[in-house]
Order: sequence, then structure tokens, then C-alpha cells
Amino acid sequence: MNNPTMNGKWLCQLCGKREDERAIQEQCGFNLCLSCDGKHTDEELKDKLSSMTKVREVSLSLTFEQDTIIGFNRNEFNLKGYRYYIDIKDETCVLEQDEMPRLKAELGEGWRDVIVEKDWFGQEVIAFSKEDFINTETFNPITAYFEE
Ligand SMILES: [Zn+2]
Repeated sequence: MNNPTMNGKWLCQLCGKREDERAIQEQCGFNLCLSCDGKHTDEELKDKLSSMTKVREVSLSLTFEQDTIIGFNRNEFNLKGYRYYIDIKDETCVLEQDEMPRLKAELGEGWRDVIVEKDWFGQEVIAFSKEDFINTETFNPITAYFEE
């Protein structure tokens, strides 16, 4: 997939910034944001992007419509109402970045048990694996996504 979109936005393939489609430029077949466009020669760009072994593939932005119980250390938390997307290659469920402040506020003390990682663009993300959804009775977004 050469045109990954998230939430209706396009991803710059070099820095991962999300932009409106009209703010995306094409340079030798790659979609770039305005600040990355023209920064490299075509040759440099090909070298740089082919050395990134992983091309990002993500689902559209989704919302937890039902009870979704996650375990942070020993605390259980219901993610219902939060927005997320699925990282298809990693098979992880990633909380939408703009939901992080809300989660932090709602978790209070429990926030210290949350693992914030850097994705391959260097952006901070909270990613859950299939096993993090501890209550088998409630919704598991990863199982649901790949079984559809
Ligand atoms: Zn960029």
C-alpha cells in the first residue's frame, strides 16, 4: 500500500506527519509533506526509503463501541469510547495520539503503568498486543480485526 491514510489524513512517507491530501506532494512516487518535499534528491530519497524495511500499514481510525478491558499492571481499564487504529504489520492496537491526554487524566495514578513507546517515526504511541486485552469476555480489537 503506497498511500497509507489515517483518519482521512495522508502520511508523509518520510517523517510520518499526517497531512490533508492537498498538502501532500509526490516526489518520485513517494508521498511527502511540504517540509520533506525537495529536501532530498530523488536518489537520496530512494536510498533512504528503501532502507526502511517496514512500510507502515494501518487501519482507518476506529472507536471502541463496546466494553474493552485492558490491563495496566494490575489495574483494569475500560477503553470504551476511545479511538484507535490497528497496525496491520505489527498486529497491534494503537491508541490515537490525541486520546493520550484523556487517558492520562482518567487513569490518574495508574498512568505510571502505561508503556509509552516510540513508533518507527519517533512519535510517542501506546500500543496494545492481543494479550493485553485481559478479559476474554469483552471486545478484543485485534482478534476482531483479523478475523473479519
Ligand atoms: Zn514529512
